[in-house]
Amino acid sequence: MAKTKTPAGRLSAEGYDRLLGDFASPIAAFDCGRFCAPLNKGEPVCCTTENAVPVLDKAEWQVLVGRTDLWRKFKPHDAAGRAIVKEASPHCVAAECKGAAFCERDNRSLSCRAFPFAPYINSDGDFVGASYYWGFADRCWVISHLYVATPEYLREFFLAYDRLLLTDRDEWQAHRDNSSAMRRVFSRRDEKFAWIGRDLIWRWEQPHQGGAIAMQDPEREIRAFAPYTSPQAYRAAVAAEGGVASDGLVGEVFSLVSSKAKAKTKPKAKSKTKTKTKSRTKTKPKQAATKTARIKAAHPNKPRVKKAPVQNSFTKKSSGKQARAKISTATRHAQ
Ligand code: SF4
Ligand code: SF4
Repeated sequence: MAKTKTPAGRLSAEGYDRLLGDFASPIAAFDCGRFCAPLNKGEPVCCTTENAVPVLDKAEWQVLVGRTDLWRKFKPHDAAGRAIVKEASPHCVAAECKGAAFCERDNRSLSCRAFPFAPYINSDGDFVGASYYWGFADRCWVISHLYVATPEYLREFFLAYDRLLLTDRDEWQAHRDNSSAMRRVFSRRDEKFAWIGRDLIWRWEQPHQGGAIAMQDPEREIRAFAPYTSPQAYRAAVAAEGGVASDGLVGEVFSLVSSKAKAKTKPKAKSKTKTKTKSRTKTKPKQAATKTARIKAAHPNKPRVKKAPVQNSFTKKSSGKQARAKISTATRHAQ
């Protein structure tokens, strides 16, 4: 690849080339796109611009269009789409691929690879783990079964975002904003949310109670969101989209849920390990104490949250609490 001039504070095309090459493992050993597609006119939810528009850094765009004709610039057809294009950072390109039937695994964007996971940055500005794009919880099967993510996938995720966030301050800021928004939203709801640390331990963040608690049994504790809560709810949701969920598909969709349900009958763990926390203010959520030295070193001043340009992300098209959130990731249909 020809060397290109890269603006300061941004990952180069060569950097993206390496980053994508090292982030290739599937989330899980099965094709989760088959589970959500019946809820989205037969297409995996994260692969249609009706749901999410990938926004690529220009260097990443350059890498991908140099390899394949899979990608083109996103052409908006409605106000939400036009807003995404208008609001995209000048360093970014809102893009769309040819669709799931034409997916090329090696040429997926960073957004494709990461979805539904997002870097989780605590209130101290430390990149401590991976959370998820909660705005997709009603459609994305993986969000109801986060524990299916393999250690190999997660390690690659952390490596990719270490490289990116250490270089690209806008990207870091956008993920910090997204993590802050997640804490705010769940605090208002008086709910907790799951995230996994670099030690591959799943935790509950309890912004309303101030602290992160290690899970004892993620498969038992992580709850499914509707319509993945029961075969009946799933069948009804598929029917509402004009489809029919076969017994075989429903069996696959709920095999892990069944396993979780069984675990619910197990005696409760005697004690929970509390992650050390530090309170900032009475009204602000406390944060996990785990530090990521490399990120701290890159951002020693721990800047206050500011609006950052969106890049390298899946921008949720339907407006919502995550509408400009950076989403580094994407589709499982090809796995
Ligand atoms: S990751 Fe994408 S393909 Fe997989 S269940 Fe979620 S939305 Fe569907
Ligand atoms: S994973 Fe989905 S969005 Fe990404 S390239 Fe493949 S089909 Fe397109």
